Amino acid sequence: MNQTAFLRTAGEVSYTLTRKKVKNINLRVGGDGSVRVSASPRVPLAQVDDFVVRHRDWIARAQAQTHARQERRQAQPRPEPQAALEEMTRLCRQYYPLFRQVLPGGMPRILVKDLTASWGICRPGKGQITFALRLAAQPLAAREYVVVHEYCHFLVPNHSPAFWAEVGRILPDWKDRRALLP
Ligand SMILES: [Zn+2]
Repeated sequence: MNQTAFLRTAGEVSYTLTRKKVKNINLRVGGDGSVRVSASPRVPLAQVDDFVVRHRDWIARAQAQTHARQERRQAQPRPEPQAALEEMTRLCRQYYPLFRQVLPGGMPRILVKDLTASWGICRPGKGQITFALRLAAQPLAAREYVVVHEYCHFLVPNHSPAFWAEVGRILPDWKDRRALLP
């Protein structure tokens, strides 16, 4: 996959543009509030810029929601990092046998960081999962969901239907579990 992403600005909206095989233009606001656009190489730049400008209000609303979510997460109890790492490592060890086939070299490297844009980040290429520090203070059912979610990225790197099918195979009630997270 040879994708190049570059930063552009249209109508005071800064966004990252990735050229790839999508139908026309896809627009999304990331967990950190960043605007990401993917467009087919056939769509001219001016048309992509225009698309972003026309969705300016939608982007602003999505960014406001993202900001509110980050504040809600920041307000959650902040456990002690060493204890949080131990708890998340314990859970990862528990679920590892289900993913041994895609991780034959052993457990992924587990890190805990003060994240607020996401509850977990999986880097399949590095064999590494980073969890949000505040996740360790969330209900067990929610912690398990995030562990399984991140592990499933070793099977499917994106959030395609195939990915959610893997999550559902292990945790059929994953939606209820996810709903526990602020
Ligand atoms: Zn994910």
